[in-house]
Amino acid sequence: MVVLDHVDKHYGPLHVLKDIDLTVARGEVVAVIGPSGAGKSTLCRTINRLEAIDSGSISVDGHPLPEGGRELARLRADVGMVFQSFNLFTHKTVLENVTFGQIKVRGAGAVAAQEKARLLLDRVGVGVPYDTYPARLSGGQQQRVAIARALAMDPKVMLFDEPTSALDPEMTGEVLDVMRQLARDGMTMIVVTHEMGFARYAADRVVFMADGRIVEEAAPDAFFAAPRSDRARDFLSRVL
Ligand code: ATP
Ligand code: MG
Repeated sequence: MVVLDHVDKHYGPLHVLKDIDLTVARGEVVAVIGPSGAGKSTLCRTINRLEAIDSGSISVDGHPLPEGGRELARLRADVGMVFQSFNLFTHKTVLENVTFGQIKVRGAGAVAAQEKARLLLDRVGVGVPYDTYPARLSGGQQQRVAIARALAMDPKVMLFDEPTSALDPEMTGEVLDVMRQLARDGMTMIVVTHEMGFARYAADRVVFMADGRIVEEAAPDAFFAAPRSDRARDFLSRVL
């Protein structure tokens, strides 16, 4: 579903992604973990082309990433992204946040878009009237709206970049529940997370990054029981 082949990226002199090879199969849930500055966010952002790469290639569902135009809008719809900071449209209601992309990018009619938005908002359990504005919502509620908004585009893959790190523990749990349900429903997911419980029990595979490289990739049980690299052992000793 997502294939990165020898991907390199620099920010000026800083080599942030070094020869990244990563293949994520349809329906697979991959947790990306690693120390701050490892390049985890950058990796996510290259997959929906929020960041260009210097060399190598990335494809989603067999198609190389487009350069721009309508193709790029479609790619961003196919690759749903949920950020740490929610990024909702603040001047749109909860419902409008979830209908906007459907109408604008997918060409859905208003009535169908609203119907789907209500279904998705109920599914993620936002629990507020549909005409509420984001400023009135808790962080956990905003994040669930953000997930519904991404799902409304019928994405082929969902990218999560530390979706719970701005939330308090109770809300973190609620958002992780929504993500676990998505995983069980068979969504292809790449999840950058500090939540080692999610990586261990909800992911199919753990990718450990440090210094712009994928240092280690393993099944969660194997990784957490016996990390192979010193970097991963050191990381786990600090976070667990
Ligand atoms: P964290 O766990 O703190 O979120 P990360 O693994 O997501 O870290 P990235 O945000 O991908 O790391 O950053 C990788 C490196 O690239 C860091 O050294 C960071 O300072 C640098 N970097 C990130 N974005 C930019 C940018 N727009 N311009 C220049 N350098 C950047
Ligand atoms: Mg990051």
